Amino acid sequence: MKGIVWHGPEQMSVEEVPRPTVEPGTVVVRPTATGICGSELEGYLGRMGNRTPPLVMGHEFAGTVTEVGEGVDEGLLGRVVAVNPLSSDGTCRLCRAGLTNLCPNRTLVGIHSPGGFAEYTLAPAQNVYPLPDGVEARTGALAEPLANGVHVARLGLADGLGEVEHAVVIGGGTIGLMCLQAAVLDGIPEVHVVEPVEARRGQALSLGAAAAHESGEEAGLALEERTEGLGVDLVIDAVGAEATRRAALDLLRPGGRVVLIGLHDDETTLGFHGVVRGQFDLQGSYAYTAEDYEQALEWLVEGKAGIGELPPVLPLEEGPGAFANLVAGPSAQIKVFLAGSGE
Ligand SMILES: [Zn+2]
Repeated sequence: MKGIVWHGPEQMSVEEVPRPTVEPGTVVVRPTATGICGSELEGYLGRMGNRTPPLVMGHEFAGTVTEVGEGVDEGLLGRVVAVNPLSSDGTCRLCRAGLTNLCPNRTLVGIHSPGGFAEYTLAPAQNVYPLPDGVEARTGALAEPLANGVHVARLGLADGLGEVEHAVVIGGGTIGLMCLQAAVLDGIPEVHVVEPVEARRGQALSLGAAAAHESGEEAGLALEERTEGLGVDLVIDAVGAEATRRAALDLLRPGGRVVLIGLHDDETTLGFHGVVRGQFDLQGSYAYTAEDYEQALEWLVEGKAGIGELPPVLPLEEGPGAFANLVAGPSAQIKVFLAGSGE
């Protein structure tokens, strides 16, 4: 079968790869929509230590179940399912505490096993969710990125912050827009977005942002009066560059919280006197739990969240070119879907 194989920094090709063999407790899925994730673009450039070439990436996917392993409900055969690519051992101290996203033995389809950028992919049966009739595979493929947003919003609204009236999301790419929607759906009355690309600002407005600003300064000015000059309760940095981490702290009110999900840069400097004197809460957010994934899928299926009009699914052969284009710079189109022919 065909798969897109990443061989190292900016080296990717479509080639013949081994077809997965079904195992007990697993299913073989023929992905019909696999989204390219921002973390995979960093991976493509060789900037993510957790990906080792040669690797078939792809962890945002949905598709048709073509084989079921021993012990798996045969009723899944032929069903279109969304796949939660993340598995935890369920037994360690972190899993027992409900922190399954941080399990030291967690595995992700597309990092630890071949992912969705291929004609067939193996997935644990307990991680697949049949989609109701009429729900597109592309919609199901958005559950993974939205689950990240659900997790961010949950951490943002965790105890200790008081009432959250104003929030700012920095970054209007997929993850930023997912964080925006989760924050709105979780009941934050006014969520603003900071995004330099105009088309993405428009998309943020159509997906529930109270306002969209070109820069952090602009957002700060717009929110100054509304927050009694104090700053906003919550900032979500969905970029992770030095400038956006600084902007996040600049926007925050004393005692406010920033949730950091963007991974653009590793080491950046930050003024820590401000963190201390502002009593800021710096909260990292990584991945999601099964509950977060299920909440995300529910919102998508109900039509409460999405990315607006879904772009077409491109053939796997266009994958290497799509990766090269996406790393060249941000575009208006936030999500690219790929899929094989499955013949
Ligand atoms: Zn565990």
